[in-house]
Amino acid sequence: MDNQNSNFIKDIMIKDLESGKHETIMTRFPPEPNGYLHIGHAKSIILNFGLADDFNGKTNLRFDDTNPAKEDIEFVNSIKEDVKWLGFEWDNLFFASDYFDEMYNRAVLLIKKGLAYVDDLSADEIREYRGTLTEPGKNSPYRDRSIEENLDLFEKMRNGEFGNGEKVLRAKIDMASPNINLRDPVIYRIAHVTHHNTGDKWCIYPMYAFAHPLEDAIEGITHSICTIEFEDQRPFYNWVVEQCEMKSQPQQIEFGRLNLTNTVMSKRKLKQLVEEEFVDGWDDPRMPTISGMRRRGFTPESIRTFVRETAVSKNNATVDFEMLEHFVREDLKLKAPRTMGIINPLKVVITNYPEGQIELLDAEINPENPEMGMRKIPFSREIYIEQDDFMENPPKKYFRLFPGNEVRLKHAYFIKCEEVVKDADGNVVELRCTYDQETKSGSGFTGRKVKGTIHWVEATHAVPAEFRLYEPLISDASEEDEEGTFLDHVNPNSLQIFQGFVEPNMKESRPYDKFQFFRHGYFNVDPKHTTVDKLVFNRVVSLKSSFKL
Ligand code: ATP
Ligand code: MG
Ligand code: MG
Repeated sequence: MDNQNSNFIKDIMIKDLESGKHETIMTRFPPEPNGYLHIGHAKSIILNFGLADDFNGKTNLRFDDTNPAKEDIEFVNSIKEDVKWLGFEWDNLFFASDYFDEMYNRAVLLIKKGLAYVDDLSADEIREYRGTLTEPGKNSPYRDRSIEENLDLFEKMRNGEFGNGEKVLRAKIDMASPNINLRDPVIYRIAHVTHHNTGDKWCIYPMYAFAHPLEDAIEGITHSICTIEFEDQRPFYNWVVEQCEMKSQPQQIEFGRLNLTNTVMSKRKLKQLVEEEFVDGWDDPRMPTISGMRRRGFTPESIRTFVRETAVSKNNATVDFEMLEHFVREDLKLKAPRTMGIINPLKVVITNYPEGQIELLDAEINPENPEMGMRKIPFSREIYIEQDDFMENPPKKYFRLFPGNEVRLKHAYFIKCEEVVKDADGNVVELRCTYDQETKSGSGFTGRKVKGTIHWVEATHAVPAEFRLYEPLISDASEEDEEGTFLDHVNPNSLQIFQGFVEPNMKESRPYDKFQFFRHGYFNVDPKHTTVDKLVFNRVVSLKSSFKL
């Protein structure tokens, strides 16, 4: 496994090992199973697993499943699959819900120490009493309940004697603290909801801010890496670890989120795109989810390299999507076989080529990686070319086919356009061309030059194929958008489907096989839509980019 570049988190770990504060490094990746993982999560995965790996430490995969209303086993399974696919192995697999008993006991301990109380205020009242950045909060009238009363009420909460929202358990800290997170935060709430792991055992659930430090401490996590929005939560994180008398004392370290241009990343928005059927699922190739990117044709190597090249800092950063495309091109350059595919077919008949004759031409599988060897491609009197490679009335500097012009067919011969066949509506439906036997590719012909080289597929053996070309799902995506309005920016052209042809040797292709189609870019065989009768190719990325590292 490749290693982490140096960064400020790694520096902290080095110091902690040198000073003897820790003997080993222990990290965790803690997703909430309320959606599929996206490319932003890959940053957290690569940091947590990569850093531990650098020090021969360990990493847990822990499902932060303390909010049962939004969570589901489907998400648990997809997250496991995605972490593995990215190339990482967890040392332990845990569920936060496995610790519900221990969390409950720690909450009882807080009550016994006079550091937690049951509050009857409503959610709205609690918000009102909390105060603002400039104004201190005020105490709840229930704040001074006796320890005995609190113990009794908390147990009744647990036993299901109250309805949702009737009572909460709050930490008793300081309603005047300049840090609003310390103004008696709620640590347990009532939710009569079945949990995917614990079923109906519990009707009270710990709040994230209380549960997370306990989970980390229970597992002996040394460095708890999280995104920057939790910075103001750190004092409460430390308060929980200390006041709950946890043996192990994890250190929370925050880093900036990874965002991509033209990409919505929040799970809430991705979920909306799925539920309102703007896409065909969480793994739609247009989605920035790990499963969507896998289906589109990105490789784990390209995602890992990309993420490692993005800085680890305290600031959220937006990275150009083209940088990701750059790395997948780099990765596929030597791996992907070259082939020819026609996305928008136009029939060409080569009138002076013998009828019924088929010849097999030699072509390199990958000129940039000669070790991949050669392939055979059939050639005959009938071929398909791209509609775009012909113009009846071309502008200046158009070097492809037009009446009277000669071009090179890649790996084959020069052909010259002699006649244009049209249907009743005047659409061009066929070209009639002649070829010159002397010009065969590889024969060393130097008699004359042509300016254009186009690709083609022999018509009688061509394999029908569907091509799916993509544009960004959201044009002009702005994370600042008000709730919902990002849907106004859904790009109506984000998916374009074409029916064309590929070389006959492509027939054996399997889902996830990747190719570079000459002039069209890199494609992946789609695992969902491909059938025995029909190959479906997703374009991962086109060949050219203006992006430079
Ligand atoms: P979202 O806001 O997209 O729903 P989340 O933070 O709620 O994401 P979690 O399941 O809690 O999702 O995320 C698991 C881990 O991944 C957390 O530690 C979180 O901080 C980290 N993470 C999530 N999004 C990003 C991102 N864009 N960049 C870096 N890390 C991220
Ligand atoms: Mg979260
Ligand atoms: Mg979230």
